[in-house]
Amino acid sequence: MKTRLNEMSWVEAREYLVENDTVVLPLGSTEQHGPHAPLGTDSFIAKAWAEEAAKRARVLCLPTVPFGVSSEHKQFWGTIWVSSDTFKNYVKELCLALNYYGVKKIAVINGHGGNLNALSEIARDLREKSIFLSIVHWWYISRNLLPDLFKPEERRHACSEETSIVLALYPQNVKMNKSVDELPRKHLAHAVGITLPLDLVDQTLSGVFGKSTTASVGKGEKVLETVTDELSKYLVFLKKMRIDDLEKKQRV
Ligand SMILES: [Zn+2]
Repeated sequence: MKTRLNEMSWVEAREYLVENDTVVLPLGSTEQHGPHAPLGTDSFIAKAWAEEAAKRARVLCLPTVPFGVSSEHKQFWGTIWVSSDTFKNYVKELCLALNYYGVKKIAVINGHGGNLNALSEIARDLREKSIFLSIVHWWYISRNLLPDLFKPEERRHACSEETSIVLALYPQNVKMNKSVDELPRKHLAHAVGITLPLDLVDQTLSGVFGKSTTASVGKGEKVLETVTDELSKYLVFLKKMRIDDLEKKQRV
């Protein structure tokens, strides 16, 4: 069975959508990932989980949205971002277009942490229209199921974990001889309990936010398989759920 929407004809899409109300929507970003990893890292990773888990769970998967809310990376060349408002409107309209064909449950596979605030707002808005978004953050799943595979400083932006996954997916796009370890510097105004409007360049000049030199194909394959397996189980569950069960209750 085909599960990628962009490989189907409209007739095939109709066959799926008259029978099913669940889809997968991968969201990435185009932003710097250190001197060694590609700008598409977040998009490549979101696409990989989404397409493989959707295939195993027999759920329709949309093409990956390659741009996100990434202005905090803009001092590093090639980072292409949109504003939070534009992202929110765009993703919301994608969900409403899906809803036109009866889609009610959408698993959003998010590859970029900076998209999170916007996605949470969209999910709340859409629930008012009886569209239920489950926002998946692969790094929490990975940390939960594979707590010992990476140290905390290897799990951050452009570090060993992300690099390992891209190494496993597209080895030709990672230059390990350019990878560096750079622990983020504290900003002048840093203090406990204070949030600052920082860009990455305030804390790192390479774009790496910890340790990237320990990346390996083997570790990447391990994360890929573990998270894909967990995600496909979740998609099977979501596909079976009735929207009525996920709906908010009436006033108590
Ligand atoms: Zn990333």
